[in-house]
Amino acid sequence: MPPRRAAKKVVLVVIDGLTPGMLERGIEEGRVPALSHLVDQGSYRRGVTTFPSVTPVCLTTIATGAHPDVHHIPHLSWYHRGERRIIEYGSSFHAMRAVGARQAVRDAVFNMSHSHVSSRATTVFEAVEDAGLVPAAINFTCYRGRTRHPIRLPELATRNRWFEAAYGPKRFFFFNLFESDPTGAPLAVRSRVEGSTDAYAGYVGRWLVTRDGFDFLVFYLPDFDYASHLAGPASPLDALSRADASVGQLMEAAGGPDELLERYAVIVCADHGQTHVDKVASLQESFSDLRVLRGRREDPDASDVAITASNRSGMVYRLPACGASTRELAQRLDGEPAADVVLFREGPLAVARRRGQELRFAPEDGGWGTEGERGLLEDSVYPDALERAWCALACPNAGEVIVSAADGYELADLGGRHHSGGGSHGSLQVGDSVVPIIAAGFGEELGECPSLTELAPFVLSALGVEVPDSMARRAETAGARV
Ligand SMILES: [Zn+2]
Repeated sequence: MPPRRAAKKVVLVVIDGLTPGMLERGIEEGRVPALSHLVDQGSYRRGVTTFPSVTPVCLTTIATGAHPDVHHIPHLSWYHRGERRIIEYGSSFHAMRAVGARQAVRDAVFNMSHSHVSSRATTVFEAVEDAGLVPAAINFTCYRGRTRHPIRLPELATRNRWFEAAYGPKRFFFFNLFESDPTGAPLAVRSRVEGSTDAYAGYVGRWLVTRDGFDFLVFYLPDFDYASHLAGPASPLDALSRADASVGQLMEAAGGPDELLERYAVIVCADHGQTHVDKVASLQESFSDLRVLRGRREDPDASDVAITASNRSGMVYRLPACGASTRELAQRLDGEPAADVVLFREGPLAVARRRGQELRFAPEDGGWGTEGERGLLEDSVYPDALERAWCALACPNAGEVIVSAADGYELADLGGRHHSGGGSHGSLQVGDSVVPIIAAGFGEELGECPSLTELAPFVLSALGVEVPDSMARRAETAGARV
């Protein structure tokens, strides 16, 4: 295909774990000049992410413009029915060790983008490159694209049985493992607390903007989330200032904030929110009288359930030897204080339970048909909950039962780790689910309370690229399929 010009070039900035409240506080206190400029020049919205609201699920939603029913990434930690093993993308080092640390790295860095994300979901990078434009990504973990990139550390790859190459966007930079161009950037993972990953992104982003080397760039900044997990979601303005400085580097490289917006439309969003947690529960304990598959050495045929909990959501997989029905597994959590909303499918309906009360729902005539307690998923507390819960349950890799944690609770991961005393996310609740979205320099506006599934099609339209069928499908069509 001959090279072509984008209708408008686009930069998409993703600040991991940024809540609207923190962004607004940063603006009020004058700590985020780059983001403030974008708000002044553009529009600011509160949007809603997908469910479970954890990073691998949310970033894949951003990349594919779809919920997990389409992209197939169900959680940060999940049971792979085909491979009969637990996948762990990195809840904690201890959790990774429980499934085998090398395997966990292989799953997070290679398998997630290459084999776990459904081949029927088109990524925004694939769509951009197929249209003859140049996509670029920095550190973005759902990166599947059309260009083969050999790994930069072949000896390390051989020793750890990593892949020799990854398929990513044409210009691809990933934690020094893959670098499509020699930029001279420092190591990305020197010190997360001091924001070295964001500094790496800033350096590479400056290099790319200086050369005008892309039509579409995803600029991913994970360090704010890291700080927020440690200190809680209301304190790390310093970390946010550092993320802002990385965005500021893009502006400097363009010659100034206005010059950046002359060249590119810019969208800034978070992948999920964060809320304070001070209580921990083990989801495994509610099933301790059953045989629970815990780690890599156990036999799925000799287990009743596999349980994958991480942050503020969890999955219960009913294994073939289990004598209890899915409903019985879900009802065990009626009296568990850490379990807020417990979801499962029953025939054509999805069921949400809380403390013994029940709401049953399914897509109907472009909306939702419901039976039982409609107030159980009140929109102000659980935004867009029916759609998000439905699509989470329709993901073929999800557990039969999905648990959204109660306020203030975290569900310990496979290694027993948690963030109690700090921040966490993952639930259907508003604090974990609502994200800020800034859009500047676009010809069109996003809707009032956009879903993160809308961003990829919005960006493609701005670039003048046709939106693939797999993006932004609504639950009605998902419902017809299951
Ligand atoms: Zn996080």
